[in-house]
Amino acid sequence: MEVMNLLYAGDGKPPNLCVHCSVCSATCPAVEFMDHSPRMLLAMINAGMKDEVLASNTFWTCASCFACSERCPQGIHVAQIMYALKRYSLWHNRYPEGLVGPDFSRRFVKTILANGKSYEPGYAPAFIWEGGLPGLLYEMLGAVKLLRRGRLQLIPKKIKRVDNFRQMIGRIIPLEGIS
Ligand code: SF4
Ligand code: SF4
Repeated sequence: MEVMNLLYAGDGKPPNLCVHCSVCSATCPAVEFMDHSPRMLLAMINAGMKDEVLASNTFWTCASCFACSERCPQGIHVAQIMYALKRYSLWHNRYPEGLVGPDFSRRFVKTILANGKSYEPGYAPAFIWEGGLPGLLYEMLGAVKLLRRGRLQLIPKKIKRVDNFRQMIGRIIPLEGIS
């Protein structure tokens, strides 16, 4: 019920309007990597299976392409539900061990709060060892190419008036434990 209430506060129609047509699952490019398809996750939410929902990797695997939200015949914003579950999961420190997503998300938010803008190398520790040594070499080659083209900064840069930016963000989301 707690998760359901959170989702009612988001965009789109309530999740309990789902008619289990599976359009979201059929259109999802990441479904093969998910523990549960988007349709199945909706069914679990509607059945009040909070522990099982939070133990799923599905919303951490979501690539935020929004195809499901665009195509849902019931107007359910499935992608926003995935975002809401990520936020809930992080705030409550409830997610499966060994996922890249939670660590990556924390690093992303901390970086944005510290600098007011993104700094890609700061996120690398979250995933750099996922593919073992071949994965590391692949990522490093990619980084060198981006550096050569001036598309990657070695030193993070801050926006002007970053303190004002942090205050503004703090009015929207609770920053305790993040910054
Ligand atoms: S597309 Fe919409 S109605 Fe169909 S299963 Fe997915 S969430 Fe439910
Ligand atoms: S937004 Fe996420 S869940 Fe929806 S189709 Fe894209 S990857 Fe799948």
